[in-house]
Amino acid sequence: MIDLHIHTARCGHAQGSVAAYVDSARARGVDIMAFTDHLPLPPSVLCADPRTHEYAMPESELGAYVDEVTEAAKHADERAPTILLGIEADHIPGEEEYTRTLLARYPFDVVLGSVHMIDGWTFDDPERIDGYARWEIAELWDRYFEQVAQAARCGMFDVLGHIDLVKKFRFVPDDDVERRYAALADAVAGAGVAIEVNTAGLHKPCHELYPAQALLRAFARVGVPATIGSDAHSPSEVGRDYEAATSALVDAGYRSVLVYERRVPREVGL
Ligand code: ZN
Ligand code: FE
Ligand code: FE
Ligand code: ZN
Repeated sequence: MIDLHIHTARCGHAQGSVAAYVDSARARGVDIMAFTDHLPLPPSVLCADPRTHEYAMPESELGAYVDEVTEAAKHADERAPTILLGIEADHIPGEEEYTRTLLARYPFDVVLGSVHMIDGWTFDDPERIDGYARWEIAELWDRYFEQVAQAARCGMFDVLGHIDLVKKFRFVPDDDVERRYAALADAVAGAGVAIEVNTAGLHKPCHELYPAQALLRAFARVGVPATIGSDAHSPSEVGRDYEAATSALVDAGYRSVLVYERRVPREVGL
């Protein structure tokens, strides 16, 4: 069992220490786990919207995060899962240099790239759900998918996180979803990055995996590799719904998933 998307209390909106997540992973039989807490946000975002301080650890804590995960990885006993040093970075247009600089500072095993924000609007925050009223949903989807495609092409990320997060609150266009899926799959394939099957969506209003099964099939058709993550924000969520993820992958045609060491992918069979 693998889980390559795990947060910790350090980000300010998750519960549990690194040690608590490792204990939970061991108890659940996880073989490989990656801590991927939220990369600090750039000052421009933090200044524009004070609430964004709750989305990620402050920059002053990034070194301590890296040290804590690295220590845990070093001292894991034989029964413990292999622990990877990862990070979940926001793709924020115009802030690529800030992100690139922070990512270059530490020897990450895997970097997830996620879009949680459109023009400063954090569309996945339940407290910001009123923002959907300002959009034509089809236009919102086009805009979001375009930003995800940019994230794919920017070269900073190994894996795109919860790639259809825009569906979280069930604002879904009624036209042409398949066309959008095919275009996104081509963009991601062309960029040479992987996607994750993220099981957290099953517990959100959308009640389905990220990505939707039709989108996962589109990725499989064009050869985009995949990995699996729970997006755990509490230790009890590590490895959650793993079987749902593997069934979806097998159904879409996948026979293996990726794990990473120092940004180099390796396939493991499903
Ligand atoms: Zn989070
Ligand atoms: Fe995320
Ligand atoms: Fe996450
Ligand atoms: Zn996430």
